[in-house]
Amino acid sequence: MKLEGRRESSNVDDRRGKGGKKASLGIGGTIIVGLIIWFMGGNPLTFLTEQAVGSFSSTSNYTPTAEEEALASFSKKILAGTEDVWTEIFRQNGWGEYQKPRMVLFSGAVQSGCGSASSSTGPFYCSADQTVYIDLSFFKQMESQLDAGGDFAYAYVIAHEVGHHVQYLLGTLNEVHRRQQGLSKKESNQMEVRLELQADFYAGIWAYHDNKNFNSIEDGDIDEGLNAASQIGDDRLQMKSQGYVVPDAFNHGTSAQRSRWLKKGLSTGNVANGDTFSAAYSQL
Ligand SMILES: [Zn+2]
Repeated sequence: MKLEGRRESSNVDDRRGKGGKKASLGIGGTIIVGLIIWFMGGNPLTFLTEQAVGSFSSTSNYTPTAEEEALASFSKKILAGTEDVWTEIFRQNGWGEYQKPRMVLFSGAVQSGCGSASSSTGPFYCSADQTVYIDLSFFKQMESQLDAGGDFAYAYVIAHEVGHHVQYLLGTLNEVHRRQQGLSKKESNQMEVRLELQADFYAGIWAYHDNKNFNSIEDGDIDEGLNAASQIGDDRLQMKSQGYVVPDAFNHGTSAQRSRWLKKGLSTGNVANGDTFSAAYSQL
């Protein structure tokens, strides 16, 4: 992507090196947590050690590398681009003023409005505090473990999470969670897939308009994005981790579906094409 001269979003909390809430509880808090684990059959000593190491290294020894700093700046620029695009789309569609989400950069563990999370959770959006959480090491993992590297692929991940924020603002997120109440696990997962595919579509919408605004897309970018979407498809990930595929357990969509919806947003730029809820599930 071409991002020279682009502004960085100011809606970013850089909590890298500050650790999650657990790491700052001190010895009293850690022991209480440790005892609970003991009762549940775990070994509190492992936990205490991890916490001690975690709080030491995260509060005093963290210095971002030049590469991490570049990724932080990149993420702030991508977020700023999504702010521009969605502010304009909300205005054009009469959806009111776009309420910008916040983004928290963290390392290791983080306390969110939706509970505590670690890097292994992967990037996520929490509607309770309208914030996107991301540990930048996820981008490295995408490259080394998922074969899904490239700046446009990373931007797609951020834009996808922002897509969930758009769903929150439009009431889609709450509507889906309401409808999931009476559903079986299988049907509930299918609703989840529809939600995720729409977030992929919204990421495509962002890319289309960001490119229109700034000529940001370079040769190879689209392929990077479509490759990432397909590498993180449920079928691909399940096959990789367990050697077989369980379609009823899908909750993000297959490789083909994810790249199809990202592409649909990318090629049309029209939010009206993003209804992933009306079509039959087999037609997604
Ligand atoms: Zn998602």
